[in-house]
Amino acid sequence: MSSYEDPVVVDSSAECNGDTPSTNKNGLHLYPVSANDSGEGLPYAPADWPNPGDKWAWKVGKRIASAGYFLDRYLYLPNRLRGKRSVFASRLSVEQYVRSEFPSTDINEFFASFSWKIPSKLLKGNWYAELTSSGMKSDSHLGTISCKAGNSLCASASASLIEAGNPSPETMFCDICCSEPGFCRDCCCILCCKTISSAYGGYSYIRCEATADDGYICGHIAHIDCALRAYMAGTVGGSIGLDAEYCCRRCDSRTELVSHVMKLLKICGSIDSHDDIEKILNVGFCILRGSRKTNAKQLLRHIKSAMAKLQKGACIGDVFKEVEFMDANGGTPHHGESILRERSSPPKMTSNFDHRVESLKLEDEIDQTLQALRKSQNFEYRLAEERLLVQKNYIMNLYEQLDKERSDLSSHTTMVETDTLVDAVLQRVDQIKREVLKLKDMKQVQNGFGSTSKTILKDYFGLEAESS
Ligand SMILES: [Zn+2]
Ligand SMILES: [Zn+2]
Ligand SMILES: [Zn+2]
Ligand SMILES: [Zn+2]
Repeated sequence: MSSYEDPVVVDSSAECNGDTPSTNKNGLHLYPVSANDSGEGLPYAPADWPNPGDKWAWKVGKRIASAGYFLDRYLYLPNRLRGKRSVFASRLSVEQYVRSEFPSTDINEFFASFSWKIPSKLLKGNWYAELTSSGMKSDSHLGTISCKAGNSLCASASASLIEAGNPSPETMFCDICCSEPGFCRDCCCILCCKTISSAYGGYSYIRCEATADDGYICGHIAHIDCALRAYMAGTVGGSIGLDAEYCCRRCDSRTELVSHVMKLLKICGSIDSHDDIEKILNVGFCILRGSRKTNAKQLLRHIKSAMAKLQKGACIGDVFKEVEFMDANGGTPHHGESILRERSSPPKMTSNFDHRVESLKLEDEIDQTLQALRKSQNFEYRLAEERLLVQKNYIMNLYEQLDKERSDLSSHTTMVETDTLVDAVLQRVDQIKREVLKLKDMKQVQNGFGSTSKTILKDYFGLEAESS
């Protein structure tokens, strides 16, 4: 058996179904627990191992897999063994620890002595309701460990989101970076692993909000600077192909950054320090530089003019008066507020029509339309190229056939044979004429598929005309 497989099997009839404890094949009574519960020893942590009296402890997080187990479960070393590390967040890290510290241990036996999987009291979907109605369970004597990077300012270390009744969507299961000890998805940059700062509304980092197959969001974050340096943000040509976008290293999803820059400008309007404003403007500048998007170009012009004015010593209030309209929600600028708060506050509706906001919106729509047009043009181009070349090759093959048939004809002398061969050659010539005509018809696409006859599109390019 691979050591990665969990030897513990929970009776499926009792799985995550009320408080009925189930018994696994090793005789452990696996009772379901609530989010953030913790405990010592069996069944969810080793007992009397490696020495009698050694107490291991366990704790679960909030997320539950569809099978009813907690996705986040932590294992704590007995006090006696705590040194540089005291807690493990993944089975793999426990295994590595045991293998290195106790090399003679049978790892399968070790994992069979307790249950790594911890069943939840709640079915997935209901857990959040109970969590909010009963309030957060207080942390045990083990203390708050939700931020694995030990960052007291980390979003995961505070329950404010849940208390506000407005949680960010739960994040997807990740056993790559997130299983690393000391890496916290909520506050560590996925590129440099250092913690992010939420100063000035968290202008310096970007969070990937892409939704994975299971409906959870990716949730990994990166410093904008790190992403720019790694060519994973801004405008990047070649196979990466970013246009004022950010590409998440964990899930490869793209996030557009124009709205992030708008947020930066909004933030600048509420800062007093010239130096900090210049730093933030520079981030915006690097994100937008080289973009082909109309709204990005317009924003870039604003940033350049703001930078120039600041360098001439203009008053901050004057510089940002003109960029205040970037606040598309009509809300008041937030000064250094945490990104958390910003995420959870509902957008305020603006009451007065602002033509500049509308103009940006329309430009955005035009950008999208043009991008869609380019996509469909690319598709048509590739289709035309493929079909035209296929037709050309077909005609070339026919010419080869004709050559062969002609040489057959010249090397035969009997009347009967000659008659048959002459027929074949004449038929071949007719066929070639037809196919050349067909190619000529196909060349109508040079004026665009839109001005090509529907019959040609249907017969030669396999495109059914939409019934109107
Ligand atoms: Zn953290
Ligand atoms: Zn991760
Ligand atoms: Zn970084
Ligand atoms: Zn992502």
